[in-house]
Amino acid sequence: MSDWTTLKCAKCHGDDIRLMCKGAATITGILKCGNSSCNNEHPFTMVNNYLQEFLPNLPVEVSQNLNAAIPDDIIADIKEAERAEYLQCHKAAATMCRRALQIGLIDKGVSDKPLSGMIEDAKTQGLLDDKTYILAKSIKGFGDIGAHRNETLERGDIQMLIHLTVKMLNELTERTARPAN
Ligand SMILES: [Zn+2]
Repeated sequence: MSDWTTLKCAKCHGDDIRLMCKGAATITGILKCGNSSCNNEHPFTMVNNYLQEFLPNLPVEVSQNLNAAIPDDIIADIKEAERAEYLQCHKAAATMCRRALQIGLIDKGVSDKPLSGMIEDAKTQGLLDDKTYILAKSIKGFGDIGAHRNETLERGDIQMLIHLTVKMLNELTERTARPAN
């Protein structure tokens, strides 16, 4: 039997991809398809050269629901949060969501300062309605937990946080895209 595990990208079904892990070891990672028109990301876990898990895409893949008007760097932050979620880097994921919120507000003309002040300014400037304001405060709250010692975040918290952040960014974008009346 070959030591190699042969598989194909779950999205484009392109060329064979071969994996091998010599020795007693576990690899947890994200395999990115090399087909430039695909670039699909597959989380996988290999234990002692046995492919234990190979997913067709990131478990939380809500970044694809982001409004097309949202800049690429913010989309990249949400993707990074999704990767961190799979790798169970919960604090890193919370930090990326907080950062996406902060950059999203700066892009809408809110001056850069401590985030709580920025959220208040955004509300005063009419960029956030009551619901989106509460979403923004929640995202900041999770980011604060991620940044502080002796606080922990669970995987479920992060999955919810990523969903909330995408919802918040979409609502911010849709609200500011409408002409003022
Ligand atoms: Zn592919």
